[in-house]
Amino acid sequence: RRVLFRSKSSSGSGAPQQARQHRRIGIFGGTFDPPHVGHLAAAVNVRHALDLDVVLLVVAGQPWQKEGMRCISPAADRLAMVEAAVAGLEGLIASSIEIDRGGPSYTIDTVRAILESEPDAEVFVIVGADAAAGITTWERYRELVACSRMVVVGRPGARPTLPPVTDWVLVDVPAMDTSSTEVRARVADGRPLDVLLTPAVIDVVRQRGLYVAGANC
Ligand code: ATP
Ligand code: MG
Repeated sequence: RRVLFRSKSSSGSGAPQQARQHRRIGIFGGTFDPPHVGHLAAAVNVRHALDLDVVLLVVAGQPWQKEGMRCISPAADRLAMVEAAVAGLEGLIASSIEIDRGGPSYTIDTVRAILESEPDAEVFVIVGADAAAGITTWERYRELVACSRMVVVGRPGARPTLPPVTDWVLVDVPAMDTSSTEVRARVADGRPLDVLLTPAVIDVVRQRGLYVAGANC
């Protein structure tokens, strides 16, 4: 099941990564609607701090906790933005595993799939403070924390802590006080996106007409 690591690599080579024993793999899941500099700063700095071989930015195919709360952009658009975001960032990979699998996007299923294809891998599940606070609402969270290491990154406005279900690692990352919600609001009322999104992501947003009032939804 090499497919997990194929083709979305920031190297752009499309070739499978070198198979290495005991790879340390970070999973950073999200809706990424859109991916912003806060996501990228977190992924880059966690990878460095924990010496991870790769960090997979896993695009939720069906973000079941958000569905019905607001209009979510098509998965293909969100994946295209994450691919654009990681281009040129070493060790960051856009992953479509949860889109390809279909059904609700459960992180535990993604971790299981990775461990199935790479049993010696060590998996680190990376969450922002708000996601960390809600970990016990995640599908089969006890199984998840038993087969992966939880990593919590600091996020502005939210004190990072994890409910006492497992040991976890705190990684300080540069505070980037933005969110996808803020970025969507900016598009809708015409404020600039520069610096909050990478230029390549801004191109995708503009070309696909995302977040313009009345578009998509
Ligand atoms: P939305 O505003 O739509 O909820 P978001 O900006 O929170 O979007 P998500 O896709 O929901 O982005 O989050 C994916 C992951 O990134 C979560 O673990 C979240 O805590 C984390 N995250 C989001 N924004 C930041 C940020 N500015 N710095 C660090 N981590 C972040
Ligand atoms: Mg969020």
